[in-house]
Amino acid sequence: MHVIQAEPVSVAPRASSRGFVRDGSGRGIGYLRLSLTRNCAMRCTYCRPGFVTNAPEPDAMGVDEIEALVRHLVERHGVHKVRLTGGDPTSRADLLAIVERIAAIGGVEDLAMTTHGLTLARDAQRLRSAGLKRVNVSLDTLDAQRYERLTGVDGLPRVLEGIDAAVEAGLAPVKLNAVVVRGRNEGDLLSLVHYAAERGVGLRFIELMPMGPLAERWRERYVTAAQMRAALEPALGVWERLPQGSESATRYRVTLADKRVTTIGFITPMSCNFCAGCDRLRIAADGSVYPCLMDRPAGNVRPALRPTLDADAFDAVLRRAYTAKRPEHPHDGAAIMTHVGG
Ligand code: SAM
Repeated sequence: MHVIQAEPVSVAPRASSRGFVRDGSGRGIGYLRLSLTRNCAMRCTYCRPGFVTNAPEPDAMGVDEIEALVRHLVERHGVHKVRLTGGDPTSRADLLAIVERIAAIGGVEDLAMTTHGLTLARDAQRLRSAGLKRVNVSLDTLDAQRYERLTGVDGLPRVLEGIDAAVEAGLAPVKLNAVVVRGRNEGDLLSLVHYAAERGVGLRFIELMPMGPLAERWRERYVTAAQMRAALEPALGVWERLPQGSESATRYRVTLADKRVTTIGFITPMSCNFCAGCDRLRIAADGSVYPCLMDRPAGNVRPALRPTLDADAFDAVLRRAYTAKRPEHPHDGAAIMTHVGG
């Protein structure tokens, strides 16, 4: 069990009050994070190392079930934002169909995807045409060798092409997510800031969470947002804190040495959690409902989706699972990011 000092961030209440399901702290649901698969081409050392193999997933929901699930959550529970994640969503052969179906549901104001970016050079335009609004791409370093060591894939040039393709396709805003791991990439922060500024894309540095393969060694590898900021401060001027709004990242407007201005964000699940403003519901590919990214599943809606959606049965599972949402995320390292979807 990891004991940490977390200081809650004041995050504006989201537009989650439209639904009627509430957890014990009065938080509602507004944002669905849907993990489409456990599979991923990457083998990130802190997330999904080499011994985890990709395999067919007969238990994964199909396109019709996904559409019915999202439609119900939008129409009856006030979900208005959907993020596709995994594993990697691009591991699904039917991803374009899934995007098309969800995008066609009235009320989905924001449809986003988190990906390693390996296939975006080929697919960004098609995804945009299918109705995807924006992407977050994981990019922890710009050094090709370190990238391969961290992810297990010699893929940096492809990912960089993918980021350019996403910008060109209008998947805006493109945001880069960099998990900072001590002894691995904490020297890469400034080059990532320059890269993001040059392309006009967002950049968020993420604190390592005690999950997955590094859970036991989390303390050695964890870098706080304050430490990241201290490492960047000598090279960046004028740290102007931007209003938090509904963002989970704490954002600063900073000035580069050549006087260009850019924005960087820090996602601080460990040093400064944002649980108080959380309106997220997480559902995995097999229908498991996770009240929180770092918690165990608390129910499964799949039986309520077959053969067609049984709204009352679905709501009963959802209500039970959501009321199990704890005021703050647990820190016991039991959850597996690649199942829940980060
Ligand atoms: N495959 C996609 C990707 O690469 O972005 C989506 C899923 S991945 C699990 C989502 C995000 O979780 C990635 O940005 C990844 O770096 C991050 N992540 C994985 N394990 C983490 C950990 N232990 N702590 C913090 N972030 C982590």
